[in-house]
Formats: sequence, structure tokens, C-alpha cells
Amino acid sequence: MKTHYDVVIIGGGIVGLTLACALGDSDLRVALLDKATDVPQWQPNEVHCRVSAITLTSQRILENLQVWQAIQACRVSPFQQMHVWDSMGKGEIHFNCFDIGEGALGYIIENIVIQQALYQRAQQFGNIQLIHPATLQQLQLEAEKNTLLLESGKKITTKLVVGSDGAHSWVRKQAGIELIQKDYQQTAIIANVTHTQSHQKTAWQCFLPTGPLAHLPLFTENTTSIVWSAEPELAKRLLSLSDQAFCQELTEQFAHRLGEVTQISARQHFALTMRHAQRYVTSGIALIGDAAHTIHPLAGQGVNLGLLDACCLAEVLLEAQAKQRNIASQQTLRRYERWRKGDTLAMITLMQAFKQVFSGNSAGWSRLRSAGLNLANQVSPLKKLFMRYAMGTRGDLPKLACINEQA
Ligand SMILES: Cc1cc2nc3c(=O)[nH]c(=O)nc-3n(C[C@H](O)[C@H](O)[C@H](O)COP(=O)(O)OP(=O)(O)OC[C@H]3O[C@@H](n4cnc5c(N)ncnc54)[C@H](O)[C@@H]3O)c2cc1C
Repeated sequence: MKTHYDVVIIGGGIVGLTLACALGDSDLRVALLDKATDVPQWQPNEVHCRVSAITLTSQRILENLQVWQAIQACRVSPFQQMHVWDSMGKGEIHFNCFDIGEGALGYIIENIVIQQALYQRAQQFGNIQLIHPATLQQLQLEAEKNTLLLESGKKITTKLVVGSDGAHSWVRKQAGIELIQKDYQQTAIIANVTHTQSHQKTAWQCFLPTGPLAHLPLFTENTTSIVWSAEPELAKRLLSLSDQAFCQELTEQFAHRLGEVTQISARQHFALTMRHAQRYVTSGIALIGDAAHTIHPLAGQGVNLGLLDACCLAEVLLEAQAKQRNIASQQTLRRYERWRKGDTLAMITLMQAFKQVFSGNSAGWSRLRSAGLNLANQVSPLKKLFMRYAMGTRGDLPKLACINEQA
């Protein structure tokens, strides 16, 4: 049996689900396919290790998609300050949301909370069908339509296939889109920890000679989520330590800024690679989120970039549909690519520059870094510019990322 949709989204992570919700209530027939068996389900008694720092812009998107309330009803940790320093020198920079008249700089949220809220919202739209588990076997690309063949024998035809299937995107491979990639030569260790001092609603980040170490504030004042990016050999050693020895090393490397680390959850680790698809679109195909790009987590921007991709693509598609243009043509899709690629490239370059600047271990580098951080800390316009960057309130934003006057 063949089924036809206008848009088929492959991958129901945060980014794919955001696109589905952004296309909700339109006259486009949309299917979202995921290989996962389970429906995303948050457990209040379990604090998940996979969390994201969500910018104010992303929060506005989630508000405009009417999922923010459901997210808040689960668990959200706003942070009002950000403190960054160089462990090898005296450079420090401090950001406070009140300096720019905001109530928060961003929010730390468990990924599963966001995913669950988006999934439940997507279920409410009559024009969206959520299909999982779905194992894809083949994608046949033709001029006017694409055909997807599922392991179950089902055939789906569609004008547009959107790949939101993560860093190792199957859609990207089927479309023959090349990647530019660079191994960051770091492994990120993540875990939730308890410490003796309050996090003061502050996102803390320390640049160690071996890589950045962040403590992101969670909902109770003595718990944070850590992201410790370290050279692979060091990461291997850290992962082999007992919980007690790991907590002790964490306390020391963080210069006791949060007191003693006393408890830790199970640790997870991720090899870090920069990936950038050479094209985000080809006729009948578009890539969004990690399928199009992955960046170092040091500035917590991956999901935030993905949400913007999803909203920009939705806006371009809805506009084309309203003007009765082909939603899957190169001309339509190139608009999305032009809108998003430059922004992402700027972020990739910035992350590379940060990594470069903070991996120089000599005394000269350290003095230079300290001077730079301290200068940025004192020069108000420069600091505000950094803050706007971190909060995502810059650039050409899609309508869903703007204040909804009717709300
Ligand atoms: C350690 C670490 C910390 C991070 N911290 C932050 C942060 O603080 N802030 C931030 O903004 N970002 C952060 N990120 C980045 C962020 O996690 C990712 O950018 C984001 O999760 C990508 O979402 P996505 O929906 O594009 O992809 P994914 O979350 O990878 O979702 C892909 C989906 O596609 C499905 N799928 C995959 N293959 C197939 C297939 N063949 N068929 C069907 N379905 C398929 C999967 O089941 C999954 O549901 C961090 C990343 C790491 C590694």
C-alpha cells in the first residue's frame, strides 16, 4: 500500500518534532518517522543527564508552539548569571541577566522534557501523523516525488523528505550530501552532581588546559549537570575512576568554586566532532539540526541552532504553499539554506576560535587570554554583544522566534 504526504520528516528528536509542530494546523500533510520504539516519556523521579542550555530565543519558539507551559510543568532551571574563567590565568568574565533587563539568561532543561512536550503537541494536529518504530530501507529520488521504502513493506511517497535524523543522518547519506568534518580531539563526559555550595542560578564554565569544564545549574541549588570536555586519553582515565575519586578530581579541577562534589550519577561520554553538511538542501530534500551540523558543546548551542533551522524551514515551506509554489523545488529550499547556513558557519568558526585560544598553554597565551577576558568583562557594549549571542537574540530570526503580540 502506498501513502502520500507533502512532507516526510525523518527523525523525531527535538528538532524534527519542532518542525512537525511548526507545520501543525497547515494544509500540508505531514508524516514524522522515527526508528525509536518508545514514546518520549519523562519520569519525575529520574533526573536525566542529557540536558540542554536553552536560549531565550528557543524559549520563545517553544512558547509560540504552545509547549512551554507543559515543559515548565515538568522541570525547568532558569539561570540568571554566567561565570567563565581561565584556570591558567587571572581572566574572568561575568554576565548577569539584570544588566540587560531580562529575568534569565537561559534555561537548563532535560532533553526528554522538551521532547515529550513537543511529541504531545504534535499528536494534537490532524495534519500530522507520527509513525514509529519505522525502519527505513531505501529512498528513491525522482524529479517530482520521493519514495521511501520501509522494512515493514510500506511505501511512502512525498514531495519533500526532511532529514532530522541526527549526526549520522541516513537521509544525508542517501542524498549524497558531503560533510566537512573535524575531530575536536576531545571527549565530553556528562553527569549530574551534588556539591556542598549553591550554584546561585549560575552557569559556570572553567577553561582547563585540557578542555572546558561546565557546571549547569539544575532545579535544586546544590545540583548541577556537568559537561567536562577533555583530551581522549584524559577522558579515558576520568571514566575509569571510582565515583569518589572522580568527585574529588572534579572538585579540585573546579578550584572548589562549588565546594566539595559529594555525589554523582552514572557518567556518559561522547566523542566530539564538528560536522557541517556542504549543502543543507537538494531537490526534494532538506537537512535540519544535527543532520546538517554538529558543534562543540562548550557554548551549548546545538539544539538552539536546530530549533532555528526547523522554524526557518517551516516558514519558507508555509510561504511557498500559500503562494502555490512547489515546496520541494531547489528555489524554495535554497531560501532556507541561505537563511541558516551563514549563521551556523559563524557559530562553528566561533567555537573553533574559542577552542584554539583556550588550548594554548604557554604563559604568553595565558596572559593574552586573561587580558582579553578582563577587557570584555569591563567593556559594556562588548559584553552585551556576547550576551546577545549567548541568548540567541541576534540575526534574522524566523517569525516563531519573535514575540507573539497576540499571546
Ligand atoms: C555532551 C553534549 C552536550 C550538549 N549540550 C547542549 C546544550 O547545552 N545546548 C544545546 O543547544 N545543545 C547541546 N548539545 C547538542 C544537542 O544535544 C544536539 O544538537 C541535539 O540533540 C540535536 O537534536 P536533533 O533532533 O537534531 O538530533 P537527535 O537528538 O540526534 O535526534 C535524531 C532523531 O532521529 C532518529 N533517527 C536517527 N536515525 C534514524 C533513522 N535512520 N530512521 C528513523 N529515525 C532515525 C533518532 O531516533 C532520534 O530520535 C549537546 C551535545 C552534547 C554531545
